[in-house]
Amino acid sequence: MALPASGPLRMYTCGPTVYRSAHIGNLRTFLLADLVRRALESDGIEVRQVQNITDVGHLTNERFDHGEDRMLVSARLEGRSPAEIAEHYTQAYLADAAALNLEPAHSYPRASAYVPAMIELVERLLAKGYAYQVDGNVYFSVESFPAYGRLSRNSLDQLRAGHRQEGIDPRKRHHADFTLWKAAGPDRIVKWHSPWGEGFPGWHIECSAMSLGELGEEIDVHTGGVDNVFPHHEDEIAQSEAVVGHRVVATWVHGEHLLTEGRRMAKSAGNFYDLRSVRERGHSPLAVRYLFLQARYRSQFNFTWEALAGAERALGRLRDRMAEWARSPSAGERGPDGPAGRASTTGSADPSATVGAAAAYQKRFHAALDDDLDTPRALAILGELEADETLAPAERFRAVAGFDRVLGLDLAGAAAEELPEGAGELIARREQARAGRDWAAADRLREELAGIGVEVVDTRSGTQWRLRR
Ligand SMILES: [Zn+2]
Repeated sequence: MALPASGPLRMYTCGPTVYRSAHIGNLRTFLLADLVRRALESDGIEVRQVQNITDVGHLTNERFDHGEDRMLVSARLEGRSPAEIAEHYTQAYLADAAALNLEPAHSYPRASAYVPAMIELVERLLAKGYAYQVDGNVYFSVESFPAYGRLSRNSLDQLRAGHRQEGIDPRKRHHADFTLWKAAGPDRIVKWHSPWGEGFPGWHIECSAMSLGELGEEIDVHTGGVDNVFPHHEDEIAQSEAVVGHRVVATWVHGEHLLTEGRRMAKSAGNFYDLRSVRERGHSPLAVRYLFLQARYRSQFNFTWEALAGAERALGRLRDRMAEWARSPSAGERGPDGPAGRASTTGSADPSATVGAAAAYQKRFHAALDDDLDTPRALAILGELEADETLAPAERFRAVAGFDRVLGLDLAGAAAEELPEGAGELIARREQARAGRDWAAADRLREELAGIGVEVVDTRSGTQWRLRR
């Protein structure tokens, strides 16, 4: 991936449509964006991430007038106004994102706030001859944009077969022409004034307006689900590039489908799961995160409750190990020269060797992530490190805490529950100082730990800590 010449890397993530809670397949796609971001940040790259909130109802069959607005359907079902529905599910999404440890985006633009910008984009597309108006509807003319189909590797002929054929508006010049602005029918509640009469924007123009408005004409990474490739992102490319006259997005990253119990998720099939279902079955959201990390984002993944239970157990084991390592950093340390007792009084049997070994794991871990986010391999390397008894506990704690900055599994959580904040890191640094025979630094860190109420004692069986009462 090419890096921006200046400023932070610009990342746009297609966000949720807030008419119902996000299902775990949506959440897997948002987790992908989070991993891309964390992997970049762990390489020292500053990222500016924007994630839109689609709070303007678009149509269940957006290609013709008879489609129903999903936001209005939910509003009717739940006895609330469309605005209340949008606000409720926006907050629900943000809570889900936090429960999954997704780093908050730097901005969450709402589509409803961007309608004037969308109208302006549509006007520019009309002025440049990429769009036409029929009876208050504005369509993008796909034949006017030769690159149409580039992302989804579709030709216009193939798209003929791919589009929904039923109910095509006969006023369209080409059946694949898509809606930029739609005239409001008599029953439409949420609508805006426009130069073409009262109406509402098409779904795709939302993302062009918000990505150009928030990040500008050069976007480094754009993420979404594989089901967004066509038509959503294909249409976004056509709109944005037709307006600015050049390529906008450098790299597209799409996550594959999630199946649940072997099938596509559907409310009617009874296999539609969200984080509430996960909690109701006694599982934690972070177990879902761990489970998803076990597969590559480009692979379809089949979710089962059994697999989630396995992920929960594995996650619990890892956290216990971390707590154990934090509590007695030198316990269990084994060098070639003998047991831990001697190691703790002399620093380590061979300190430079264990520090070097931990660094080798770190290098392999980051190489796995840099290889198109190979998270299963990254987890396997974590497992190897966990089992490597030649490494001092403090070394393992420190290395795994570093891995967790990308994995986002709150692995030090159990350790942190007992230790004051930052103490685990200080203990680990002190161990490293001792391993490097930097006694002055070790003493300074002992003082620092004492300052936050943690007493460290170097015993014959290794370094122990206890909280001062
Ligand atoms: Zn989008």
